[in-house]
Amino acid sequence: MERRAGRPPSRPLYLEILMTQPVDARCPHCRTPMSRWANPQLSSWSGEYQYVCFNDECPYFVRGWAWMNERFDVTASYRFRLDPATGETGPLPVWSKEAMRENILPEEAASAR
Ligand SMILES: [Zn+2]
Repeated sequence: MERRAGRPPSRPLYLEILMTQPVDARCPHCRTPMSRWANPQLSSWSGEYQYVCFNDECPYFVRGWAWMNERFDVTASYRFRLDPATGETGPLPVWSKEAMRENILPEEAASAR
């Protein structure tokens, strides 16, 4: 067990990053870390969760209200969504700032200890 004496930790930096940040879970529109969000049971998404930007100041979300209103005459917007299983991104439609928040997963399991 003495063979490692004096040697620096050899784990490459890229592995360190991959292990602590499985995907780039920051919103590309506002640079805010995104929340893990449980997939609805009756959805076609395959994984257990996706990353969703729940920042109410996010430009993507903010301009979504006007976009939806102009084109569809509805009071709704969408939040930025990233599926970590496929890397696919897209809009998650919401009808209020509070909508969909009940599906946000607690982060204790990942960050505590
Ligand atoms: Zn955002």
